[in-house]
Amino acid sequence: MARWARPALSAFRPWRPAGWRSLFTEVGDVLGEGRQGPSGRTDMVATSLWGVRTAPCAVGLAVLNSSITGGRRPISFSASASSIFGSGGNSKKEKLFLQDIVELIQARACQRVVVMVGAGISTPSGIPDFRSPGSGLYSNLQQYGLPYPEAIFELAFFSHNPKPFFTLAKELYLRSCRPNVIHYFLRLLHDKGLLLRLYTQNIDGLERVSGIPASKLVEAHGSFASATCTVCQRPSPGKDIWADVTEDRIPRCPVCTGIVKPDVVFFGEALPQRFLLHVLDFPMADLLLILGTSLEVEPFASLSEAVQSSVPRLLINRDLVGPFAWRPRSRDVVQLGDVVHGVERLAELLGWTQELQDLIQQETEKVQTADRVL
Ligand SMILES: [Zn+2]
Repeated sequence: MARWARPALSAFRPWRPAGWRSLFTEVGDVLGEGRQGPSGRTDMVATSLWGVRTAPCAVGLAVLNSSITGGRRPISFSASASSIFGSGGNSKKEKLFLQDIVELIQARACQRVVVMVGAGISTPSGIPDFRSPGSGLYSNLQQYGLPYPEAIFELAFFSHNPKPFFTLAKELYLRSCRPNVIHYFLRLLHDKGLLLRLYTQNIDGLERVSGIPASKLVEAHGSFASATCTVCQRPSPGKDIWADVTEDRIPRCPVCTGIVKPDVVFFGEALPQRFLLHVLDFPMADLLLILGTSLEVEPFASLSEAVQSSVPRLLINRDLVGPFAWRPRSRDVVQLGDVVHGVERLAELLGWTQELQDLIQQETEKVQTADRVL
């Protein structure tokens, strides 16, 4: 079992005293498409991103939320949600099951669903998991002559030798992966007006390809959808690099000849600015859906604790992970096993199966002709 770690709050610059105004100014900027650097990054530095699990800190995201809800952004459940959640002082905290979640959705008592996803929703599309032994990307990286596997996502190594990263990018690109039933289930959730936001750790862009609009996405670890010159910071569309990458050339900036790097978050790099949306989204959520993630990577993983304690959390995953294992809540629902089967089961209980199949058929035809993100 992976060790659970609190987020490294030292990485959050706005956490310093008097930093709240700065934090909310930045969130406002994200929402208003305001001030943003060329690569769209925040001041949060992902010092603990990509799997570092030992960053203890006495203060967690729960404190962040209580600060917000205490004076800045009160939660307002609908009447039906309040009665079902029992949000009063004498709330009855009976155990929930998958059917209960289904009924909450059907009754529209849950209509601000926040979703967190990880590599487990991409593997059914043929994207290898970065960390699975044997089949994972790390295991396949030995051919690139890296000093250690993680170096492929380190800026210092990339500046010295970008070849392994672009070889890996080419391998992913040539696989021509497509969204699977899980992505389309989430798209359906959006189409029905139930998706508040989808937070993904995946860099494959399949959420976009499935038709979920960018405004509903937070790609916490970046994506290949855009790229930035590592020297002059000139931004460019991600698709501009693929002609070079598929011919085994290093993409260069047309202005300064610096290496152009896709906006995938490397170790030590700033998180995308949109990640700041979590301070608004999670306190507003009335259902948290977590799919296919080991909840090991910070600061992403701690978001699973950032919803109100009265809010149901549904985990559909191969294993019991994170706080579902070590600090379960009374309203947690866990559906263990194959993630595709779990999502199909949920769709079936919701009565969405036919709609989902129709959507997949319609979108598959589109994707075959559309521009790919990766
Ligand atoms: Zn440049």
